[in-house]
Amino acid sequence: MSLIVQKFGGTSVADCEKILAAARKAIRAHQEGHQVVMVVSAMGKQTDQLIQLASQITDRPAAREMDMLLSTGEQVSVSLMAMAIHSLGYQAVSLTGAQIGIRTDAIHTKARIKSISTDRLRQLLDQGNIVIAAGFQGIDEHLDITTLGRGGSDTTAVALAAVLDADACEIYTDVDGVYTTDPRVLPEARQVDRISYDEMLELASLGASVMHNRSIEFAKKFGVPIHVRSSFSDAPGSMIVGEPESDDRPVCGAAVTKHEARISVLGVPDRPGVSLQIFSRVAERNVTVDMIVQNVSEAGHADISFTVPRDEMQITLEAVQEAVDSLGAGRITHDDNVSKVSVVGLGMAHQTGVAEKMFAALAAEKINIQMISTSEIKISVLVERDAALPALRAVHAAFELAKKPATSLAVQTPTRESADAADVASRCRASTWRT
Ligand code: ADP
Ligand code: ASP
Ligand code: MG
Repeated sequence: MSLIVQKFGGTSVADCEKILAAARKAIRAHQEGHQVVMVVSAMGKQTDQLIQLASQITDRPAAREMDMLLSTGEQVSVSLMAMAIHSLGYQAVSLTGAQIGIRTDAIHTKARIKSISTDRLRQLLDQGNIVIAAGFQGIDEHLDITTLGRGGSDTTAVALAAVLDADACEIYTDVDGVYTTDPRVLPEARQVDRISYDEMLELASLGASVMHNRSIEFAKKFGVPIHVRSSFSDAPGSMIVGEPESDDRPVCGAAVTKHEARISVLGVPDRPGVSLQIFSRVAERNVTVDMIVQNVSEAGHADISFTVPRDEMQITLEAVQEAVDSLGAGRITHDDNVSKVSVVGLGMAHQTGVAEKMFAALAAEKINIQMISTSEIKISVLVERDAALPALRAVHAAFELAKKPATSLAVQTPTRESADAADVASRCRASTWRT
């Protein structure tokens, strides 16, 4: 019997009517003969509201307690979803991350899934239930509740699709699919038929919130094809699979981050171990560092600049201050009025002139670049926040992203063949699946 995982994001379950509509989609798949696992996010802006509530109590909430609080949003929506399915005459059981046995590490508010047990899920499915899993949550080795980072329900869905060797993983959301950039930011953005795991992973990490970046890591590792589609229509959607949309285009999409901060440490001694002194203290606080730039030293001193998420700026400044105190040298400056604009594409790995084209587009708009970072398949620039939208529009136009590529590859029906067969087979035999 085939198995489908269907994930519904916050806007797709924002009120009772939408919950009932999502329930009907799951029931339709069940009637067609599939076993169905739903993964559900908190209703509407519930997670934002819970964060807001915490901030009214303290500006430094303990991460463990944040997880305790945030996980309640999904507990509300899964139970209502189960009731909706019951009211429509079908069997359903809602489960929290802990009840499923989603084990994570103990990094509260951005935990990583380590293992998932499948016994209970399989038993409930075999008994004819639609299983409704709370997205975005798990438990650590002390049975404390953890959450997977904002947008983490996508990762729950893809991980469950992997562990259950699902035939399809459908991500229902409030747009028709994956676009060349956020269509709410740039209306000229174009929906793509298909995007590769590598490109989507970069875009998601660089601000394309349509998918949680870790969900794409899972999908790639275990060969799970992802179908992103609208909750509100039957439009065909976009596939996230191994192959890109086109072979010959240098860039497939652009993204912008809205919550970035730059920290610079000026005049630190230029000798081995200094970067370690700074970044080990930042790492101790579990802060994710992004762009890092160090200039060539002058008179034995160097400047190091890096970016972090804006809401982690204060804690990072404390870490850096500690390092500067212990080095006995250095001066810290920071700026939380910056944004990062990026272009991504597998094609740039084998084409020249991509950076030049991006910089020319920015120069034509008189946009100043503060920092640059690159990988094989992306170029990112840090700009003043007010320049982010013009910068995004300029690069989107420069790479002609609104136009369909001339040689777009045909979309094939998704299969699991790209996954390593032995790996999938061993996962299916195991009752506990490990990442
Ligand atoms: P959900 O609650 O369903 O998980 P999200 O808000 O997390 O929905 O993700 C969907 C949103 O992602 C869209 O409304 C859109 O504004 C935004 N988005 C950002 N980048 C992209 C992109 N490249 N393609 C499609 N949507 C994008
Ligand atoms: N409810 C969580 C959030 O808003 C998880 C998710 O929606 O994916 O981030
Ligand atoms: Mg999301």
